[in-house]
Amino acid sequence: MTVSNPQRLRVAIVGGGIAGLTLAIALSRNAPHLDVVVYEATSTFGAVGAGIGMWPRVWDALKGLGLCDTLDLHVDTSCSDARFHYRKSDQCDGIPFGVSEMPLRSIHRADFLDALLKSPPVSLKILFSKRLTRYTDIDGEQVTLYFTDGSIETCDVLLAADGIKSSVRQQMYHSLSLSAIVLDKPKESEIFHRCQQPTWTGQVAYRAMIPRRELQQRHPSHPSLHTPCIYSGKHKVRHIVDDFSSDSQMVNVVVLMSRPTMQDTSQATSGHSSTHTSTAELLRHFSGWESLVIDLLQMLKMPSRWVINTIESLPTYVSGRVGLLGDAAHAMTPHQASGAGQGIEVCQKSVEIKPVSYSPSDQDAFVLSSLLSLPEISSRTLPLALKVYDEIRRPFSQDILHKSVETGRLYFMQTGTMAEIPTGTPLRKALQKQADDIRGTFKWTNERDISQSAQLAVDLFRKRLHQQTPLERDL
Ligand SMILES: Cc1cc2nc3c(=O)[nH]c(=O)nc-3n(C[C@H](O)[C@H](O)[C@H](O)COP(=O)(O)OP(=O)(O)OC[C@H]3O[C@@H](n4cnc5c(N)ncnc54)[C@H](O)[C@@H]3O)c2cc1C
Repeated sequence: MTVSNPQRLRVAIVGGGIAGLTLAIALSRNAPHLDVVVYEATSTFGAVGAGIGMWPRVWDALKGLGLCDTLDLHVDTSCSDARFHYRKSDQCDGIPFGVSEMPLRSIHRADFLDALLKSPPVSLKILFSKRLTRYTDIDGEQVTLYFTDGSIETCDVLLAADGIKSSVRQQMYHSLSLSAIVLDKPKESEIFHRCQQPTWTGQVAYRAMIPRRELQQRHPSHPSLHTPCIYSGKHKVRHIVDDFSSDSQMVNVVVLMSRPTMQDTSQATSGHSSTHTSTAELLRHFSGWESLVIDLLQMLKMPSRWVINTIESLPTYVSGRVGLLGDAAHAMTPHQASGAGQGIEVCQKSVEIKPVSYSPSDQDAFVLSSLLSLPEISSRTLPLALKVYDEIRRPFSQDILHKSVETGRLYFMQTGTMAEIPTGTPLRKALQKQADDIRGTFKWTNERDISQSAQLAVDLFRKRLHQQTPLERDL
């Protein structure tokens, strides 16, 4: 068992994905009085994952961390217009029906993690091949961590960024469910029980890259060569162009299909696993769609298939000295392009925050690191800081989670008005409304200010601390 300097607070971050690593780097920069250790299950940060889109506010948050210079190397800036262009494509002649307000810039997950690790040296310990199996938080003084390799560690606070299938969330909610039974609250127990495992949304994503040169040769005026597009149609597809490679040689295609009747079933809960599928199988679903879509689909080689799972809106992100962040706390559908972003914003330093807009994964790290960097943070005040994190972050991230569901329904044209629309003027009007509704679900990317969340959290923490009775303070 490793015991570090007992004078210094020990922060264990389980999971070295985007949320966990961003938080770790922010903490080790802004709070040198903390001992931060990341425990990652895999043996190395591999090239797993795909392109991740990020809103301007997330880039601003990353700038605050001094990471943008490195990240910019991997972000395509040649795309003249990074705003999404919407098209109704489930017919021979597609109809353009609007443009999004905010630009989305993308980076490959592997490039992002790579850039995080290349940032200026920090006193950060990352331990690989450390898969957490369980934890105990019995005496309220510290958390004990148990790993598959038989090792045991202790810490003052456990922050779990171990993804959608989070073992920490499962254990936390298993315990909450059992406690509710003891308190004779069967309904609560059932709710807590459901929070343990992800469920299937009825949606599946297919992802692949197309060489830009090949698309140019086949279709020189294809809009996806220059602009990100959403090709919409009933229950079938959206497609995004994410030009994230540094030399812009590839066009990133994501095809999403939805089977609403399968929502909430456990049929596909096997995870984001990237099994491959054939192009012929995909094309079967798009007969009658405009040629722009068919051309793209015909060029996909062995697209990977991602099952889209989510978790319930959790009643809490924290329990005692344990907190959840990133997908472990709020795994959402990808339609708001914000799962990772909400994890990152949790990471900036409280007093030096520049006003920027936010995204869900980013926010967790931003707010958490703001709180944990405060001079008032001690072993005794840590649980209070986690409660404040939960109070500030949970409503906000769950709002984005619900918005993402709504955006998906609009992209899939599952809303009432779009289902029965005749052609001609009524269709154009309905599409105009459709574009307004889609833009409406993204308003927050432009409006809300991430620095406010962090300042609110800091103020609330100080207020609660001040309100504690002398007895509570001594506990
Ligand atoms: C099709 C698709 C498109 C998407 N597009 C976007 C987008 O455009 N923009 C955006 O912001 N988001 C997007 N997302 C969401 C985004 O990918 C996720 O929200 C984000 O990657 C989650 O990061 P995380 O760090 O919370 O979890 P993860 O990336 O899942 O990382 C979890 C880490 O924890 C480790 N781990 C797991 N269990 C343990 C354990 N027991 N012990 C130790 N380590 C463990 C794992 O090995 C992993 O490294 C998309 C998702 C999908 C499926």
